[in-house]
Amino acid sequence: MFNINNPEVKFAINAVRQAAELVKTVQTETAKNALTKGDKSPVTVADFASQALVSHMLMQEFPDAVLVGEEASDALKEEGAEHLLEAVTNYTARYIPESEPDTVCEWIDRGAADATKRFWTLDPIDGTKGFIRGDQYAVALALVEDGEVQIGVLGCPNLTNGYISEPGGTGTLVIAVRGQGTWLTGMANAEKNDWQRIQTSPRANPSEARLMRSFESGHTDVSKIDEISSALGVEVEPVRMDSQAKYAVLAVGKGEVILRLLSPKMPNYQEKIWDQAAGSIVLEEAGGCISDLDGKPLDFSVERKLINNRGVLATNGLLHEAALKALRDVGA
Ligand code: AMP
Ligand code: MG
Repeated sequence: MFNINNPEVKFAINAVRQAAELVKTVQTETAKNALTKGDKSPVTVADFASQALVSHMLMQEFPDAVLVGEEASDALKEEGAEHLLEAVTNYTARYIPESEPDTVCEWIDRGAADATKRFWTLDPIDGTKGFIRGDQYAVALALVEDGEVQIGVLGCPNLTNGYISEPGGTGTLVIAVRGQGTWLTGMANAEKNDWQRIQTSPRANPSEARLMRSFESGHTDVSKIDEISSALGVEVEPVRMDSQAKYAVLAVGKGEVILRLLSPKMPNYQEKIWDQAAGSIVLEEAGGCISDLDGKPLDFSVERKLINNRGVLATNGLLHEAALKALRDVGA
């Protein structure tokens, strides 16, 4: 069993459990209230409330902690966004009664830090587009020390036991602690500490690989993925899924390869730290392997993006070399 009494581990589980519960509650009521951020990705009341909640919990528990979080409160302070700030404050107040619009914005903005020697990183809702569609999304929190992820937690409200169910799952919480494995529990059981250790799949034959990719075709290169599929001899279509929920699926052994190729429309796209940190350790501690498309380790030590990497390749480990070769063969 992982060390459940470690204060950072306890905090991470508790924070993700509560944030995942909060965003699930918001989903039915406010998912359609999306703003548009500069990068055109939708952001909702739930993203802001989730970041405010986790940031406040972090501040209470570890006042000196550094947070690299996705959201910033600017969009909530614009003219016309008053109703959204009010909604964010109301949701946050269900967990933190002293919430006020100003303090909520301050909590959100504590996430504006850059990577440093030791920091937490949060994606308050990874896969906002999936969240809005009612598909998969995740709350992702990780602790990074000297560029290496030490703890990662994924809260996936629409997965059941680490996998998809139709129309929506019962919720899965996954934790990985460096050197102590990857563990899963149902979201409803999280307080009971009923954790099960999970492992990646034993499939070593490339033609049997179950590939996964972003649901959003604009986040990847669909035609290159088809070429890689053919190069590996895979006949089934890749599973399309939003967010780091994909890493939970690999960690539980229900898939073998995640391809994060660069979209031809955004060939210089750099991955965000919060989009990869928690998922990477969840996969590694379950026996998998993660690198960029050139086979380089992911570098979490600078700024807010993986500026030293290009895309991401994640596998069950056994198929990593074969997948790298397929990437080279098709020039991806
Ligand atoms: P996924 O659902 O796996 O595509 O992951 C969702 C994440 O992809 C979001 O949190 C965004 O930060 C990120 N994203 C947004 N635009 C792009 C893009 N053009 N290429 C790759 N990832 C992107
Ligand atoms: Mg994200």
